[in-house]
Amino acid sequence: MLALKTVRQKHEVSPELLRLLDEFRRMVNVCIAVGIEENVSSLKTLSLRSYHRLSRDMPSYYRLCAISKATGILHNHRKAKKKNPRTRFPCARKLMLTTCYGFKIQNGLLRLPVRPRHYVYVKLNSHTLRVLSGLNVRSVTLTRESLSISYSKETVEIEPEGYVGIDRNLDNVTSASSDGTVKTFDLSKATRIKADYRVVKSQFRRNDVRMRTQVFSKYGGKQRNRVHPLLHHASKRIVDEAKTRRYGIVMERLTGMRRLYRRGNGQSRNYRSRMNGWSYGELQRQIEYKAGWEGLRVIYVSARNTSRHCSICGYKTLEGTERQLWCPVCGTFLDRDENAARNLAARGLRFSPNGPPGEAMVEEREPENATLILKVDGGKLSR
Ligand SMILES: [Zn+2]
Repeated sequence: MLALKTVRQKHEVSPELLRLLDEFRRMVNVCIAVGIEENVSSLKTLSLRSYHRLSRDMPSYYRLCAISKATGILHNHRKAKKKNPRTRFPCARKLMLTTCYGFKIQNGLLRLPVRPRHYVYVKLNSHTLRVLSGLNVRSVTLTRESLSISYSKETVEIEPEGYVGIDRNLDNVTSASSDGTVKTFDLSKATRIKADYRVVKSQFRRNDVRMRTQVFSKYGGKQRNRVHPLLHHASKRIVDEAKTRRYGIVMERLTGMRRLYRRGNGQSRNYRSRMNGWSYGELQRQIEYKAGWEGLRVIYVSARNTSRHCSICGYKTLEGTERQLWCPVCGTFLDRDENAARNLAARGLRFSPNGPPGEAMVEEREPENATLILKVDGGKLSR
């Protein structure tokens, strides 16, 4: 298996590079126009139709990378269009360049060709060089203010000896392993930062869409810069722990998540916006790539009923208060978060070939679309 990671550093583009980025964006947009016009979106067909229309002054590998970039955009556009037929015409707006060929890293410098046999050099900082040493560099992405270099290595997937279930809650994530250890990672700071920015944004009064986009994207960036390190900290610890025990990681599948927290579900407005604002997707992304790098298996399962089933005996209709659950069958008091995380870890076990055989049969069939919707049965609300 090939594992990928990316290292990023800040830099200022020189006027020469800026011209290159601009030209690259123009090429991508030409390819997109060709793709829309002729209704093609596969990489191969698009290359055949658009290659000859691209500027001959550009090295051919930039032309190929532009086509591949356009293919990605066209693919996303197609998907978006299925959902919403009024999706507007796609185009590459951001100044950027991605290339898998032509560059070279030597003596602490990244060498990029601008024209045949004419190069520009970007100095790599010590962190980047340290990260990249001894690994295969796959591609380079340049934008106006940053340089990202993606690198790879071959990993062998570790056959999991157990699982860690990760459950998310309002202010924390809880991990529970097959061997019984439970850890809680406090992320209340992240939710607080997000809530603060929500308030700040709600106070924006000017009726000017362009200003609004500009100001909001600035806040978005600031918020990201503060929240992501917190998530990185948690995801690193989760992955490190799984690595030392050679465990797989089990997380909740997120599709349809917004349906869980929306108007009319009997939750407060603040609770809903905090649950929906949670960067759980980002945390999952980080855990997934970090685990992939270490060769750990990552499994997504449905989180349905994880806080209604007893994680000790499997009894199916636990009742309890906000934080505590009590099982009438085995008589255990359970912490709600801990119970849910344990149940997730147990669900992961079903996927392993030497897991409990009977358990595999218990996997509930979920009706389409009914996954996380609130049901009204017999006048009683239940999730
Ligand atoms: Zn029980």
